[in-house]
Amino acid sequence: MTDDAPNYGFDTQQVHAGYTPDPTTGARQVPIYQTTAYQFQDADHAARLFNLEELGFIYTRIGNPTVAALQNRVCALEGGIGAVAASSGHAAQMMALFPLMSPGDNFIASTRLYGGSVNQFNFAFKRFGWEVRFVDTDDLDAVRAACDGRTRAIFTESIANPGGYVTDMEAIAGVAKEAGVPYIVDNTSASPYLCRPFEHGANIVVHSTTKYMSGNATTMGGMIVDSGTFDWATGGKFPALTTPCDAYHGLNFHEATGAMCYTFYEIAICLRDLGACQAPMNAFQTLMGLETLSLRMDKHVANAKIVAEHLQNHPAVEYVSYAGLASSPSAAKAAKYCPKGAGAIFTFGLKGGYEAGKAVVNNVKLFSHLANLGDARSLIIHSASTTHRQLSDEQRKAAGASDEVVRLSIGIEDPKDLIADLDQAIAAAG
Ligand SMILES: *Cc1c(COP(=O)(O)O)cnc(C)c1O
Repeated sequence: MTDDAPNYGFDTQQVHAGYTPDPTTGARQVPIYQTTAYQFQDADHAARLFNLEELGFIYTRIGNPTVAALQNRVCALEGGIGAVAASSGHAAQMMALFPLMSPGDNFIASTRLYGGSVNQFNFAFKRFGWEVRFVDTDDLDAVRAACDGRTRAIFTESIANPGGYVTDMEAIAGVAKEAGVPYIVDNTSASPYLCRPFEHGANIVVHSTTKYMSGNATTMGGMIVDSGTFDWATGGKFPALTTPCDAYHGLNFHEATGAMCYTFYEIAICLRDLGACQAPMNAFQTLMGLETLSLRMDKHVANAKIVAEHLQNHPAVEYVSYAGLASSPSAAKAAKYCPKGAGAIFTFGLKGGYEAGKAVVNNVKLFSHLANLGDARSLIIHSASTTHRQLSDEQRKAAGASDEVVRLSIGIEDPKDLIADLDQAIAAAG
């Protein structure tokens, strides 16, 4: 498939986009280009590549054909203009913000985030001089009030993990527009099959491809996708993109590459200098996962609904927090932003509280007790003592990970078996 075939449906693109058979060998599947470097044609060719006058491969930290196929495929699935892969979802988050932030700048982030993101933003990024301002994104006035002259981005998840909360992306995009900053959406929990943030005003999407995209828990990876819709030139807030860059022989990325300036900066500066590139083998495995993304997501969603409805009617269960339930406060937003389903990660609380939650985790047999999500297998974890452990009590509550909360990531098994396993674990918990 070539770039002039943009009208294929999602199911076709997840199999074909971003790769045409290798012209030398005819290889139909994307080969694993397990090479560090690429031979130049001559000295002038090398110079043109280094000057960004001609595109081509130089060194795998900056670009690799297998990784490029994955980048192009995810870019097509999200509907962006450029995508750059990273070694992990967290690396992608750092790289997504790096072109935007200088020491003393701040960004606004939702209180409802993956626990690891809260830590990364709060502690590691603080040491770069980047200030995070956590705000309840249901309160648009609070988001507006948190923005000031040094704000450089607003960051939310589409479906926020762990509590199955759906962000009102169009409303947040409106606030970002007023503030003159890009809106970044972590679309990991939804995947581009269930949610397309660019259709709702997001400017940049980040992913942990570790989860649903690779799909079988073998492979770390991250991705940054640019919609091409943010006007970098106006307002003077993003000098890394719009003024001569000392780190790249005085190149002005915006003048040289126009709407692609953010993507080129990600490659030429972030990959080159931060070095968090994705390995070709990881890109290959993620490409294999992506081929079945829509099939798997439909099954994940169908199973999650069955299990959530069962738990909701279980006498020992206090509540179920899943945007796919009609009773959820996120139900209307889920119908708008994720019409094919609200994902397959949700939480529930037992009437027996913390101890009962722990006992359920200790007694499951089919569910795996571990810290991951988006696996083909069903997973269970007690968020407060694990993924959200480093957060304060208040942050945990805001993130939907209070003491009694048990998080499920529903896999693609037979839902009868999942229900039976939870039932016996709840019974064993007393
Ligand atoms: C897992 C995850 C991350 C971090 O990704 P890694 O690949 O583990 O670095 C970020 N955001 C969300 C929503 C995640 O689930």
